[in-house]
Amino acid sequence: MFEKSIKQLAASLVAGEFSAVELAGEYLKRAKAYNGELNAFITLDEDKTLAQAKAADATRAAGNAGLLTGIPLAHKDIFCQEGWLTTCGSKMLENFVSPYSAHVVELCEKAGLVTLGRTNMDEFAMGSSNENSFFGAVKNPWDKLAVPGGSSGGSAAAVAARLAPIATATDTGGSIRQPAAFCGVTGIKPTYGVVSRFGMVAFASSLDQGGPIGKSAEDCALLLNVMSGFDERDATSLDRPKEDYARELNQPLAGLKIGLPKEYFAEGLAADVAGAIDAAIAEYKKLGATIVEISLPNTRMAIPAYYVIAPAEASSNLSRFDGVRYGHRAAQYDGLTEMYEKSRAEGFGWEVKRRILTGAYVLSHGYYDAYYLQAQKIRRLLADDFQRGLTQCDVIAAPVAPTAAWNLGEKSDDPVAMYLADIYTLGVNLAGLPGISHPVGFAANGRPIGMQLIGNYFAEAKLLNAAHQYQQVTDWHTKAPAL
Ligand code: GLN
Repeated sequence: MFEKSIKQLAASLVAGEFSAVELAGEYLKRAKAYNGELNAFITLDEDKTLAQAKAADATRAAGNAGLLTGIPLAHKDIFCQEGWLTTCGSKMLENFVSPYSAHVVELCEKAGLVTLGRTNMDEFAMGSSNENSFFGAVKNPWDKLAVPGGSSGGSAAAVAARLAPIATATDTGGSIRQPAAFCGVTGIKPTYGVVSRFGMVAFASSLDQGGPIGKSAEDCALLLNVMSGFDERDATSLDRPKEDYARELNQPLAGLKIGLPKEYFAEGLAADVAGAIDAAIAEYKKLGATIVEISLPNTRMAIPAYYVIAPAEASSNLSRFDGVRYGHRAAQYDGLTEMYEKSRAEGFGWEVKRRILTGAYVLSHGYYDAYYLQAQKIRRLLADDFQRGLTQCDVIAAPVAPTAAWNLGEKSDDPVAMYLADIYTLGVNLAGLPGISHPVGFAANGRPIGMQLIGNYFAEAKLLNAAHQYQQVTDWHTKAPAL
């Protein structure tokens, strides 16, 4: 049951091999058994899950089931969900039960998907290792001494450990692709604007984008079909006709031109990661793809640009947490100003404070031109690089991270070392492009390695097609850790 694809689970539900209640029950049992060790879920609520599953069974009995009715899924704890604790990994929202649901959650519920629980994450999605969660670090199911990646480490670990068949996640600078790579699962970050940000707790609004993490590209396509769509409550939501992201899955890859950016395969890339990607490229060639070298000359500026823009937006977005309307409020204070100060000092963790301070600094009078404006110019250069590169190829192949998962604690005292590990993912967000990460092998220490495919705007179906074809001739994505 736990190795089945979404389509296979759906077929079993149709055939009556098990009910949605039985399916959710099995997953809940497994999630409870392993969550103590892995810490992938912040919240499991059996009563709520089983009530949803029961409703899904009733929908099916009434003849109104859709493809995904009764399929369990885990939501990243960043998506507001009515009646569920929605913490965003922060003490600030430790007791916040959302009074409304995110657009993504509404769509999933409408499709009959059953919420298994809410996954752990770096506080306010700030991090690359999931060690910044107020609720403790998530462990990588392949090696409990390793980080699962971040910030959607709970979603990636839950899918990898087969505690959930599929999960939602968000990616501001790599948080879908990098934890997917570290945990040996597949994840796609769509074009900016394809998935509504309404009800998704804001980190850096011009970069944040929701997407699925699943065992395979096919599973991701099916969940993206549900998650995507226009929503007038998000001013950057794109009003486009609904797409079927699975429509091109079975197309052969003959003639596909893959670009390899030379700057992504230079100094700093671990030999085992480079080797696994070489082998994957060889598979893509066997499938009919041709390879061209391209250049993305401004790549090295992605880190400084992102770590100015993202904190700038975060400092603004997080000003809403003031202890007045919702979220943590200090128990004792003397006057309004001290109430603000103490509530924020107590409610936010160190990485969040670092970002707020950085953001306030780069936006301040006298520094705005020197940092924020320069970063915006670099952002444009990076987007132009991708456009030039994509005139020479259909998709760009790249590493997701310079190494496989590192050890818990290894970089947690060194924020710059942590930021540097984001080098291959940030550009995609700064440009607003879609990117998919899929497993391509294992490092010498047994930890998974992922590869990234980047496409032009709205090339999601093509990226999913390429990854799916690769997954038809390889079996990395079928491998599960021994728990
Ligand atoms: N690691 C990056 C950061 O810390 C990206 C996080 C994300 O995509 N949410 O900001």
